[in-house]
Amino acid sequence: MSEGAPRSLAETGERRHSVRRLADRVGETPLPEAVRDLRAILENATVGILFSKNRRLVQANPQFLQMFGFASVEEVIGQPGVILYPSQEAYEALGREAGPLLAAGKPFRGEIQMRRKDGTLFWCRLSAKAVNPQAPQEGTIWIMEDVTDERETAERLKQALADQETIFNNAAVGIMYVKERVVVRANRKLEELFGYGPGEMLGRSARDFHVSEESFLRLAELARETLWRGETFVTEWPAKRKDGSEFWVRLTGHREANAGERFDVVWIFEDITEQRSVQEELRRIHLELEQRVIERTAELSAANAKLQDQIFERMQAEQRIWHIAHHDALTGLPNRALLTDRLEQALAQATRSADRVAVMFLDLDRFKSINDTLGHEVGDELLKEIAQRLKGAVRAADTVARLGGDEFVVLLQDITDPEDAARVAEKIIAAFAPPVKIGPHELRSSTSIGIALFPEDGEDAYTLMRHADTAMYQAKRSGRNQFHFFSARLSESARRAFHIEHRLAAALEKGWLSLVYQPLIDYEARAVCGMEALLRWHDPEEGEIPPAEFIPIAEDSDLIQPLGEWVLRTALQQNRRWQEAGRPLVPVSVNLSPRQFRHRHLVDSIRAILAETGQPARLLELEITESTLAHDVETARARLEELAGLGVRLAIDDFGTGYSNLLALKRFPVDKLKIDRSFVRDLCEDPEDAAIVAAIVGLARGLGLDMLAEGVETAAQRDALIALGCRRFHGYLFARPQPAAQEAAIFAPAGL
Ligand code: C2E
Ligand code: MG
Ligand code: MG
Repeated sequence: MSEGAPRSLAETGERRHSVRRLADRVGETPLPEAVRDLRAILENATVGILFSKNRRLVQANPQFLQMFGFASVEEVIGQPGVILYPSQEAYEALGREAGPLLAAGKPFRGEIQMRRKDGTLFWCRLSAKAVNPQAPQEGTIWIMEDVTDERETAERLKQALADQETIFNNAAVGIMYVKERVVVRANRKLEELFGYGPGEMLGRSARDFHVSEESFLRLAELARETLWRGETFVTEWPAKRKDGSEFWVRLTGHREANAGERFDVVWIFEDITEQRSVQEELRRIHLELEQRVIERTAELSAANAKLQDQIFERMQAEQRIWHIAHHDALTGLPNRALLTDRLEQALAQATRSADRVAVMFLDLDRFKSINDTLGHEVGDELLKEIAQRLKGAVRAADTVARLGGDEFVVLLQDITDPEDAARVAEKIIAAFAPPVKIGPHELRSSTSIGIALFPEDGEDAYTLMRHADTAMYQAKRSGRNQFHFFSARLSESARRAFHIEHRLAAALEKGWLSLVYQPLIDYEARAVCGMEALLRWHDPEEGEIPPAEFIPIAEDSDLIQPLGEWVLRTALQQNRRWQEAGRPLVPVSVNLSPRQFRHRHLVDSIRAILAETGQPARLLELEITESTLAHDVETARARLEELAGLGVRLAIDDFGTGYSNLLALKRFPVDKLKIDRSFVRDLCEDPEDAAIVAAIVGLARGLGLDMLAEGVETAAQRDALIALGCRRFHGYLFARPQPAAQEAAIFAPAGL
């Protein structure tokens, strides 16, 4: 061994002595036993023990042998110490290091590499002590431990630590190890994140990195429980850099498991400022979107509200339209459509309940005349008033409808016998009795009512309406202001009148109407002095329908107006044609019905037709029956004045039958009296008729009027009339009424 260079190998001989000395130190045991003990110690020691003297190996224990790979102690004893070292240099280096210490009596300790017998090296912990520092030749005791494993472990540990350190310092996240709230470790990344220089964070309080004391405490509070449970606490939290600026981090904390009661935590910091700003941006966009959705929703709900309003308005409009479509605009009463509806419902219900239903058809008597004379405004007012009276006369459940014009229908439900309907009809007629005051006019109106009953008079709405209409017609025919039940035994005349009214429109439209002309004779002059236009209706199915039959019927409908105008125009046109053909210039006579005469547009209409046909007024003679004039003398006179003003000639037709007020006659601006045919017919036999004719002749002379006898059929009648002073005639004796084509018969009558 290396007890220093001066030592010699002669030390080997001192082995026995040294062991004894060793035994001496162990105790005062008798020698043999002490040796035995020592051997036991040496042999069982877990460390290698070597005794060297003068740089040679003197003794070694089994552990040493094993450590160095020697088979027996004999292999070792006497060998130079250098064999245990990797090289001569290593041996000498150790000698230089250990020598002085050993010489000074101090132990030497060290860890060096040593060499086994097979040359392999291993790490060995050495501890050496000189047996006697004053006498180095007495040898040195070496205690050796193979620390290869230990060193390798330490090496590995060191490497691991280095690795960890590398990881720690190169981690992409900030890592902070906090012990008792004080930072004990902080990696580079952490320092970068917080803007500190290397090591600057160490020793600082964790709260230095928080934006405020409060923020720090709150985080501690939040994290405490999770961390104590040993779980990982994760949150996002604001942090503060060295320069005071704030930023957001994701914090992941884990409590150090071996910290016992201490609260040591490893925190990982990730800068999420950018993420946060992205999130912030996303949130902002989201909020903006939400705001927009809210706004849009508000817009939509406003639009929806508007739509609701519109729907409501539309519904109201529809209701209005429905109301308009189902009601009469003038009176507000249900119209035909609604009536039909209600009637059908009533019939369905009555069928179930076995009750009766009454349909009453009403037509105002002479309403058309009022309309013609006083105008539609007055007529409308009258209709409104009548509508009210009708409604007042029936129960609320009954329906009063207006079909148009002056036609009303009353629908009575739940009646049990015809008497009920009769009572209502009487009530209605009574309701018409009080005069209606409209402006300056006090109008009297009445109604004719036709009643049809379900089920006896018809099973369906249409039939019932038709039958009620027919019954109404009968009521009118038999004198107005009364009611009639429909009956299958309706008089033939009423039925026919009803039929004719419905057919007349077709006749006018289809040209089934024509005019015939009958000359008026100036017997003194033996000349034709005029001609009367008479209306003819040749119906392709019914044959001839005489004017006396259909004219009154036309009067009750609105057809009289167009019909009258047609006659006027046709007659004037015909007369013009004759004039153009060189026929004598004679006036044409046209009959005016009472309603025509009273119509307020009569004068305008005549003036227009005269202009249209290019006929002078004096070539038109208008015949108005005496009864027409007798009705309302003052109005009649005013109307006659108007017509006279036009320049047309005026004749009173059928004179002698209408109980004329003779005083009034004096004031009428008429030109001619036409003695009614009835007086002429029996003139020769009946002296009373002769007297009347004589009186009329006298009257006409007195008033300076022309005079003409109608219906002269015989020469005897003619002569009798001549004898009474009448010189103008018209009758079959001279000519029958002829179609215009029969010119010769008209202008050169056979009887002249
Ligand atoms: P009216 O105005 O008194 O006409 C005379 C009627 O006596 C005519 O009958 C004519 O054909 C008829 N008549 C003429 N001579 C004789 C005769 O010798 N013997 C007999 N038995 N009859 C004779 P018509 O054409 O049937 O007309 C009847 C009435 O109808 C007319 O009576 C007139 O009031 C009315 N009428 C005819 N055409 C029109 C018209 O265009 N408009 C109006 N409003 N009424 C008309
Ligand atoms: Mg006439
Ligand atoms: Mg006449």
